[in-house]
Amino acid sequence: MKAVLDHVGIAVKDLEGALRFYRDALGLEVEAPEDVPSQQVRAQFVPVGQPSDAGAGAAGASLELLAATAPESPIAKFIEKRGPGLHHITLRVDDIHAALAQLKARGTRLVDNEPRPGAEGALVAFIHPSSAQGVLIELKQSRATGPKGPALQPASSGGRVLLDPARQPIQRFTLGDFELISVSDGFFRLDGGSMFGVIPKTMWSQKTRPDERNRIPLAMRPLVVRGSRTMIIDAGMGDKENEKFHEIYGVERSRHLDHTLAEAGLAAEDIDIVLASHLHFDHAGGFTVRDASGRLRPRFPRAQYIVRRGEWEDATHPSVRTRASYLLDNYVPLAEAGVLQLVDEDQTIMPGVKVRRTGGHTQHHQMIVIESGGKTAAFVADLIPTTAHVPDVWVMGYDLYPLDSMAAKRQFVGEAIDQEMLVFFEHDPVIAAGYLQEEDGKRRVRIDL
Ligand SMILES: [Zn+2]
Ligand SMILES: [Zn+2]
Repeated sequence: MKAVLDHVGIAVKDLEGALRFYRDALGLEVEAPEDVPSQQVRAQFVPVGQPSDAGAGAAGASLELLAATAPESPIAKFIEKRGPGLHHITLRVDDIHAALAQLKARGTRLVDNEPRPGAEGALVAFIHPSSAQGVLIELKQSRATGPKGPALQPASSGGRVLLDPARQPIQRFTLGDFELISVSDGFFRLDGGSMFGVIPKTMWSQKTRPDERNRIPLAMRPLVVRGSRTMIIDAGMGDKENEKFHEIYGVERSRHLDHTLAEAGLAAEDIDIVLASHLHFDHAGGFTVRDASGRLRPRFPRAQYIVRRGEWEDATHPSVRTRASYLLDNYVPLAEAGVLQLVDEDQTIMPGVKVRRTGGHTQHHQMIVIESGGKTAAFVADLIPTTAHVPDVWVMGYDLYPLDSMAAKRQFVGEAIDQEMLVFFEHDPVIAAGYLQEEDGKRRVRIDL
């Protein structure tokens, strides 16, 4: 195994005190500090290697100064026990799966048996200090050096729209007191004809290019709402389905919700509330996971899951027409685990966040309206799944009540234009969010965010 020093993590009591030595006394350059809310730490990198050490394009080694931002942070606990000092050493490897297999074969005690997502799309795993002479060792496989999958750029943010969907950065938006983070659970494909109902292919194929099986690419973009509490709206399809399912729906989840949440500085444990627009598999599949023993359990261990009662009734009693979309494993375990909360009507879920029934797609499909500081955003889910569905008549063939969809959409689009709402498009393969406009009866989406 080849391993290169990536960085050395140092637990510090306070960053200012640490900088008086590393920056002022030693005279080293330091990078801007970065908060990692999921770990309750602030990290400041101090480059100390030569970029050429690490090969083309990779950064050289650095020191990572780690300060706790909360008393229960792992760094605070570390300092309490051992005082400030060396916390961990990170070694970069080409193939982290192979490295872990090799270590396991030699009886090494691991903290992580499987790699998990780290910052900037890297995969990381910790080795227990008892196997490494008292040093906590982190293995890291950078996204760009992975043997599998395409090379990807580090995530960027700030509402920039990238045209290469494989790169799908997370996108952050500020709305009054809220931070809204559009994350991704990857992509899938559905029949183009079914996605556009009565619209002929000669028209819809000008907006999106079908593959040889007539399927069009769709994204799954849950939305994180960070305010007094942290909420996620929908959660993509998750990873419980088999190969045949993945083949039928052209599933591409090489970068999924775990990765994009990690990029947003979040872990599943950070989510307080999971809110469902409706319970179709491409929205609710990520609500549950199958653990090592094969048992289904809630994917967000601390969260309360909120579902509209009518949608729950329909989803737990699917008909011949609806049962391909309603997969019980995605939500029945939530009721069994006692984390399900049903709401009966339009109401406030947390201050500034309301649900509103649209019907149409399913009888109890709901959109989510977020308001703060005089600004409004709307997560419309399958009411307007992509930017191609903005005109009234461009309604999915999947919709159970298409005339209701049209009426709900017409009303919503009027409001969205009047109030300059930021509208999120959950399934658009390229555009996460934008503002609706209408000129000479023609609607368009403005994305210069
Ligand atoms: Zn749906
Ligand atoms: Zn959908």
